[in-house]
Amino acid sequence: MESPGSSAYLEGASTGTINRSVVVNFPRPESQGRPASLPMYPEPPAVTANTVTIASTEKPLLGPVGPVEILPNPLINDMDVKTIKKGILIPLKTTLEVQQDHTVDQVYVTRVPTKCTNEVINLLRKFLPEDRVKSMVHLRKVVKPSDLPAHLKTQFMNENEVGRQIHTGKSSWVYIVIGEVKLIEKEEVCKTLAAFDGMEDKFLTQVTVPANPPSSQIHAAMWSSQFWPTVYRKNNPLGPHPSLISRATEEIKNDTALWMAVAYRVARRAQESGIGEAIGAVIVQRSEGRAQILGVAGDARWAGDVPKSATGNPMAHSALRAISMVAQKLVRHERRAAGRPIEDPNLDFDPFQDRPLLEEEHSAYQEDHPNPDGYLCHGLELYLTHEPCVQCSMGILHSRMGKVVFAQRHTLTGGFCSEVRGQDLPDVPEGSAGDGLGLFWRRELNWSLLAWEWEPGSDLDPLPPIDRFVHA
Ligand SMILES: [Zn+2]
Repeated sequence: MESPGSSAYLEGASTGTINRSVVVNFPRPESQGRPASLPMYPEPPAVTANTVTIASTEKPLLGPVGPVEILPNPLINDMDVKTIKKGILIPLKTTLEVQQDHTVDQVYVTRVPTKCTNEVINLLRKFLPEDRVKSMVHLRKVVKPSDLPAHLKTQFMNENEVGRQIHTGKSSWVYIVIGEVKLIEKEEVCKTLAAFDGMEDKFLTQVTVPANPPSSQIHAAMWSSQFWPTVYRKNNPLGPHPSLISRATEEIKNDTALWMAVAYRVARRAQESGIGEAIGAVIVQRSEGRAQILGVAGDARWAGDVPKSATGNPMAHSALRAISMVAQKLVRHERRAAGRPIEDPNLDFDPFQDRPLLEEEHSAYQEDHPNPDGYLCHGLELYLTHEPCVQCSMGILHSRMGKVVFAQRHTLTGGFCSEVRGQDLPDVPEGSAGDGLGLFWRRELNWSLLAWEWEPGSDLDPLPPIDRFVHA
């Protein structure tokens, strides 16, 4: 064999496993800090492990979900939560979860006699930057030949005599993952290995591995046999922890249909009255075993004589209106407490349209906030007839909402779903399709929440269809 470091050494050692490399670069979270706070509100609550932070990898400690008392409201008093059909809640996938199944990467792998393992690992640590060898924490770094997936065993075994010897009987060799090919120079690796003279067989190859950690034991087992021994660390680095989702689903599943019925009702009213499209939003507070409506809003994009030629007034989308109405309750309380008058804005045209316009919106707006010292919509629940547009998705995040449920996906214009959008639709103009944004849970954003798509039960009349190019 030629001396390590020469290209022939590398070419000879490198093997053609699966050469497809799909690398998706995600921006790393630069900071988990919050944006500048709004002066009129108290400090926002810290993002902690029992809200839904991506910072924590620990399994959340969760108690049982108890019964919930639904507080009376004229909009729901004629409905019985026990008989209403519950529908189905489907947790949304994060962008990382959508990509995990088909995102692979390449790593360098070498092999050494077992007795030299520590020495070689220390040598690699010394010569290669720590952050480069520390990535890919879901891969087992040191692997016995007998633990390799079948295709690699066959491949490594049949390469040369040394390989055959190593894979025969009780082996005294191990394979070591060095690091990601894209982060490490071949030359560096070769030089480092050359400095170690304890092994006669200088072996270096590239292996295809899953780029993201597995989110379950089943995934880990599958990848261990298809790619490389993979470790599941009992967390979900790609999204909310499974136990967090199942508990939250338990919490909301019995009464989701109730809040949705109100959202559907106000959506219909918005369209019938001509102020907007058939889109609606309801904000619910759930705490200490009680759930109650805090805000109700229909779409009002056409309110205030907006010409019906384009998209209407985007600031009057139902999600933003509902959030703003809840925020106004806090302002109202603050002013009242300070002995200041509560004034309506003096505007020729109110772009926010965040005063109640429909009968359904009035009662929720008039009632005082049960938690007037709260911060924006922190921890509240938002029920929407349609997947929110990108603008509203970001508004929802900024409001610190805790949970969002929507009934109808808006594949082309929505901001919450992560799946590729528009690929199977025949009349989608070029440029309209693309990756879903999955804004409810992104590493680079400083707030995350839980989100579900909801399939209504058979007792809820469907809303009039909305053009798929409309932004909800
Ligand atoms: Zn919107």
